This record gives sequence, C-alpha cells and structure tokens, in this order.
Amino acid sequence: MIEMPFMSPQGFAAAVAAPAARPAAGARAHWFVFKGDRLLVELGPPAGRPSDDPRVAARPVWARLPLLNSNKILWFEVVRPLYLGRLGEIDCWTAEAPADAAPPPPGIGWEGLRALFSVLDDAHFALAGRAIQLLDWDRSHRYCGRCGTPTEAKSGERARACPACKLSAYPRIAPAVMALVCREGEILLARSPHFPPGMYSALAGFVEAGETLEQCLEREVEEEVGVRVSRIRYFRSQPWPFPNSLMIAFVCDWTSGEIRPQAGEIEAANWFKVLHLPKLPSKISIARRLIDAVANEMRAGQ
Ligand SMILES: [Zn+2]
Repeated sequence: MIEMPFMSPQGFAAAVAAPAARPAAGARAHWFVFKGDRLLVELGPPAGRPSDDPRVAARPVWARLPLLNSNKILWFEVVRPLYLGRLGEIDCWTAEAPADAAPPPPGIGWEGLRALFSVLDDAHFALAGRAIQLLDWDRSHRYCGRCGTPTEAKSGERARACPACKLSAYPRIAPAVMALVCREGEILLARSPHFPPGMYSALAGFVEAGETLEQCLEREVEEEVGVRVSRIRYFRSQPWPFPNSLMIAFVCDWTSGEIRPQAGEIEAANWFKVLHLPKLPSKISIARRLIDAVANEMRAGQ
C-alpha cells in the first residue's frame, strides 16, 4: 500500500524543461493525457463489486497508462503539452486532448482519477494528480491577471510570465485544514450537503489570509459545528488535486459546546463511537486515513 495517495512517488525527479523539446520518434515516454478531468488509459471492464469510494460506482478491473513509443500513437494531436520530469528512466509528459478528438479505439478509454485509485499503478496515479493540476493552472493563466497580456512559459521554472508588466504566475496551491475532534471514545464527524448519501467525514476548510493553521482549525470547527477545541496535534498532509489543495490534517480534543451544524454548510454532525462508525470516505483521502488512525488508537485503548 502506498504511503499517501497523490504524494510524489519514489524515483520521480520533477523538471520543467525536457532534455529534448519533445520525445523523438521511438523514444519511450509516459503521456498523461486528459480530456476534461478524465485520464487516457488502457482499461478492462468494470469490476463486478462496488468500489470503496461512495463517489464511484465501480472501478475498472485493471487500468494502465499507455507507455508510448512517441505520442504519435495517439489518434489526435495533443494540446498544451507540459513536461513533468522523469520517473526512473522514463520521461513523463502531460497534455490535453482536443475537444473534437474522435472516440478512443477499443481497449482505451477516458476515466476519472477517483475510479483509477488502487487500480492504476500507484506512481502513475500520483503523477496523474500532479499533471491535472499543472494542466489546469496552465490553461487558467494564458493571460496576465493584472494587465491582460498573453503570458509566456518561463524556461527555468514552472511559471508563466507577462511580457508587458513582468507579473509571474506560479501553480496555485490552496492550503486546507482538516480537523478530527475527539472526546472519550467518540469522534465528531459531519456531512456536507454534497456528500454521497450516508457518508460522514472529518471537518475541513480553507485557510484564510492572515491565519495560522491552528487558528484556521479553531475557526472552522466553531463555525461548522459550534464547538471549541484544544490540544491540536498535527497528523499528516496530502496533495489533493480536486482541484488544487494541500490538505493538512490535525487531531484535537473537544473542550466545550454542543454540536450546532452551520446552516447551508453542514447537513448533519454527530459524535460517533469508534466501534460504530458511519459510511466513511474512500482510502484515497487523508480524511479516511486520519479517521482510521484515530479510531484504531481509541479502540486499542478501550
Ligand atoms: Zn501583465
């Protein structure tokens, strides 16, 4: 099992500029080609059993990234090619398919990343998460945000620069804090109105300008469920490409307040005994890893 889904894989060296402008004919390369938010993969039929992710009905029984001997094996000309770096000895690229690309040949398809978790090779899955964020950033920064001039890719770093006013745009990462609130043998879980039916998770929210992570946590917990917490302990972090977050997860202790769900944001929130937990998010997310780690520790102490 991988350490944390989407974390940069072992053996990957990120780079901005490829050794050659594009892979020569016959050179092997991995291409992470997206159509919208779906990745081009060779894939098998859907599995007969439901997936562990309440957001995914069924995963394919297998999927793999095509190892191409040049992108000419693709049946269309790619858009927005970006070099990602090398995984071992293999150059990795990402690109978009044109909107009018013809349907894929048999055995090849477009699949969302959630459906490919635990099916695609772990390193390729992580790089697909990196790739989709960089493509989205590249697509969204074609023009200068300050003066509107078309931007140009910088050569030595991952940035797009404005030739008129010199403003540089870098890939944007939005830090988000996740909090699992605990008290005697129970954890506080909540559901947002857009969760799949029955699923509960830890609380989370984006860091605001001028806040520390701890201040963000205290504010989010109080806003979303109306309780106060203390003893904030760092758990772990996870890059989260839906769309461009860094999740920073903490455990904390309840100190006071009754649960009062925030209207519009929190559909339901409850204390759950760790022996009777509701439907939880998939192991793709740090939320599940955080809940599992704390619940296992509490169960061991009971
Ligand atoms: Zn400008």
